[in-house]
Amino acid sequence: MTRPPLLPGTLTRRRFLAATSAALLPVPALAQSGGAGDVDVAIIGGGAAGIAAARRIAGAGRTHVLLEAGPALGGRARTRTAFGLNVDLGAGGFARTGATLAASAQADGLALAALPSGRRLFVDGHEARESVYDAFTAALGKARRDMLAAVDGGKDVAASVPLAALPPDAWSATVAQLLGPLSCGRGLSTLSALDLSLRDAPVDDLTAPGGVGALVAALGAKLNIQTDSPVTLITNSGRFHSVTVRGQRTPIRARAIVLAVPAPVLAAGALRFNPGLPGRLANALRALPAGALEQVAFLLPGNPVGLEPNETVLVKAGKAPPAVLRGRVGGTDLHVLTFGDAPAREIAEKGEVAALKLARDYLGINFGIAGERVAEVVCSRWGTDPLIRGALVAASPGQGGQRRVFADVVQNRIFLAGEYVPADDWGTLAGAWRSGEAAATRALALIGGPA
Ligand SMILES: Cc1cc2nc3c(=O)[nH]c(=O)nc-3n(C[C@H](O)[C@H](O)[C@H](O)COP(=O)(O)OP(=O)(O)OC[C@H]3O[C@@H](n4cnc5c(N)ncnc54)[C@H](O)[C@@H]3O)c2cc1C
Repeated sequence: MTRPPLLPGTLTRRRFLAATSAALLPVPALAQSGGAGDVDVAIIGGGAAGIAAARRIAGAGRTHVLLEAGPALGGRARTRTAFGLNVDLGAGGFARTGATLAASAQADGLALAALPSGRRLFVDGHEARESVYDAFTAALGKARRDMLAAVDGGKDVAASVPLAALPPDAWSATVAQLLGPLSCGRGLSTLSALDLSLRDAPVDDLTAPGGVGALVAALGAKLNIQTDSPVTLITNSGRFHSVTVRGQRTPIRARAIVLAVPAPVLAAGALRFNPGLPGRLANALRALPAGALEQVAFLLPGNPVGLEPNETVLVKAGKAPPAVLRGRVGGTDLHVLTFGDAPAREIAEKGEVAALKLARDYLGINFGIAGERVAEVVCSRWGTDPLIRGALVAASPGQGGQRRVFADVVQNRIFLAGEYVPADDWGTLAGAWRSGEAAATRALALIGGPA
């Protein structure tokens, strides 16, 4: 778990001078060198992390540009209109605890709404009895403790190993589905127990009545934004970095960069770097492959499951495709199912035809709801969106220590931000937001703080 110590004497005088000139001295203001597209900080990627970073840079009185490849801000927090309603097909909630996202929304006067605490558990079409809830909670707690014990001292194994060592009980399959496919978009045998044990994501307790995606986009509304601006190349030009945007002749010069694109986009080499990314970072990106989570939204009038607005339902593992159901979103007939792993990959590849069948199977097998009651669905396709390439990343077995590499500054001037960067609440909207703010704070320290 600890980093190897630096070997004494490895920093020669020449390397010391190079290091100090590049990294330690404040970078001279680009305004003095007169470039037209020059900014203090270029932020690449207009999701939660990029928006949070740009807000902090703007708040410090420094110049910035937020470059987003797609047509709108928000990234994996995206609200679309369907069935005459606002439908979130990415993050549909977030955690208030420890989160500056909630504080930023409140400061901007944006509406927030509380989510019900906990989730409801169903078995064979009926809500579980109190004692069954207790049994499931105990099984989940035990699985977490066993995983922690398995990685004691920093060793790492597949997350399925500590669970497989136990005699299977009535809840082991449900616990495995919840911790693996439904949380990380991959089966436990492909996930690092260490990475999973270090995850400490508070429960989502807030949502936005107009859609979480709309809320995140609104938080970026006053920034200096360029949408439809995919960055293709980042060049280290010594005293600054040049950012090349497709279709734009002159590169933007920046004294610091916050790189807030999804990890799988970096891993796929969709952005080029000159010089290339450090091997250590390239290895870490490979060590954390993307998982698949996709959402399917539909109207289900008459409240056949008997849910309060925004309640979340988990069903005991059985014959139905595993999913988490959010019911009666905002008090309407809108319901959203989140599928993980193989069913999610099928949705990403085949779209609404596959999504409709999976939703009908889920409702029919679990609740006896006739297929024709769901006439139409809309679904996300994060896995096949070239600007996203998956739902979230999680470490492969044996690679659980790699996530900390993302905290390193790259080429003295590039700070990584995004859901994959935090060691604890990775994979969340609030974590992505905080990582953007943290990256911006480090960029400001490099360029000399507030103007
Ligand atoms: C189905 C699903 C459900 C989820 N539900 C929840 C939830 O309920 N609660 C929760 O807390 N979290 C949830 N999450 C996670 C949450 O949505 C993400 O963690 C968060 O939105 C990630 O923000 P980000 O800024 O790191 O990345 P993103 O939001 O992905 O932003 C990255 C941006 O970079 C842009 N980009 C890519 N390439 C380039 C380029 N070359 N140049 C410029 N821009 C580029 C992309 O277009 C994108 O806008 C969910 C995720 C999914 C997929």
